[in-house]
Amino acid sequence: MAFVITSPCKDEKAAECVETCPVDCIVEGDDMFYIDPDICIDCGACEAVCPVEAIYPEEEVPEDEEKYIQLNRDFFK
Ligand code: SF4
Repeated sequence: MAFVITSPCKDEKAAECVETCPVDCIVEGDDMFYIDPDICIDCGACEAVCPVEAIYPEEEVPEDEEKYIQLNRDFFK
């Protein structure tokens, strides 16, 4: 399990999460940030600071945002 960044991050890129993550697993992409699911320790710190509520625990990602689970995974391949 990991936390997942979803569409509200697109073109927003507030970046509070990057500063907050204790294991530095949030990386900047072209249009949004991504969480490396292999490194994320599920602390939830990023979810709490995201001003656009783009971050969810994987099992709570809304149905219409589920493609972001794979997009976050793929970013780190
Ligand atoms: Fe980083 Fe914690 Fe967010 Fe995972 S849940 S990305 S470890 S801040």
